[in-house]
Amino acid sequence: MTAPDLPLRPELRGLEPYGAPQLDVPVLLNVNENPYPPSDAVVADVARAVEAAARGLNRYPDRDFGALRTDLAAYLLRESGVELDAAQVWAANGSNEVMLHLLQAFGGPGRTALSFAPTYSMYPEYARDTATVWVAGRRAEDFSLDLDEVERMTTEHRPSVILLASPNNPTGTALPRGTVEAVLAAADAVPGGCVVVVDEAYGEFRRTGTPSALELLGAHPNLAVARTMSKAFGLAGARVGYLAASPALVDALRVVRLPYHLSAVTQAVARAALGHATELMAQVGALREERDATVAWLRARGLTAAESDANFVLFGRFADRHAVWQGLLDRGVLIRETGPDGWLRVSIGTPAEMAAFRAALVEVAGL
Ligand SMILES: *Cc1c(COP(=O)(O)O)cnc(C)c1O
Repeated sequence: MTAPDLPLRPELRGLEPYGAPQLDVPVLLNVNENPYPPSDAVVADVARAVEAAARGLNRYPDRDFGALRTDLAAYLLRESGVELDAAQVWAANGSNEVMLHLLQAFGGPGRTALSFAPTYSMYPEYARDTATVWVAGRRAEDFSLDLDEVERMTTEHRPSVILLASPNNPTGTALPRGTVEAVLAAADAVPGGCVVVVDEAYGEFRRTGTPSALELLGAHPNLAVARTMSKAFGLAGARVGYLAASPALVDALRVVRLPYHLSAVTQAVARAALGHATELMAQVGALREERDATVAWLRARGLTAAESDANFVLFGRFADRHAVWQGLLDRGVLIRETGPDGWLRVSIGTPAEMAAFRAALVEVAGL
């Protein structure tokens, strides 16, 4: 069959849809999911909430999801100690959609989005899909942000959006408060203004002493801090992401969102899960310990492991990383072949899953 003559945008021609392989393997440590399924108590509350929502499904949902925004603000107060108004919170179907909203509102043709690689591979896709010019500077050797590079790139490219993941994916490294403040200062100097997005998808896993950019919101109306229920909350399947920002910034997102983008079922599920935040935060504590133990184990075996404030570890370096990845897969352990050449990324699973990972790696890499 010959390809039909569809008027596809030229920049999309020949592209494959993005996504990690979804393979049926016993030990899945490749997409930074929470390895623990929701508890029976969470499942029961979610089921009750969905049943109640189902009774009203003939109606469109609350377009501005006021109750969910109030609950998210209360959660952020508990988690980070930062007091926010519901009008400072926004949510969508995953933080991926939240960030697409940001690019729809603040990017667009003739505008530039800037980030620093290696970083999340979806950022250039939001830029492409909103016809925003994409520019990536480089992170330093230790994956920190070099402030001279930030200054140089910002002055040269005058971005309207800067995207920074902290903790960063795939490296796991978080940004110190001073670095985020320096980026905000550079953004303030961009003629026409610049929105700084700090993507804290892994924020809950940060080590003691690592700050959240939520603390800087009060002084910076052009700052947006994105979070998600996909990782720490163990709710990847529900597709709920959110952000905190100034009310003016949130108002701009309300203009570009599709009507009723967050279904009544999604809102109900998210609110039910938020009611169990205490239990879920205890689980995050266990995952952080397993993460620190994994970093220590990799280093004790003579490998390099990047500093991690997330629920995954970037480690290496291997002359042939693909062979190591394949060897692990042959032993039933799926990790991610990503990041700079020679590195691999493993998500933190249950203690049993991490034992399987260690045993397989000892064999494959001859440790
Ligand atoms: C996983 C991840 C997200 C979250 O995506 P959702 O759409 O909320 O599931 C966002 N940013 C980064 C850097 C991630 O790794």
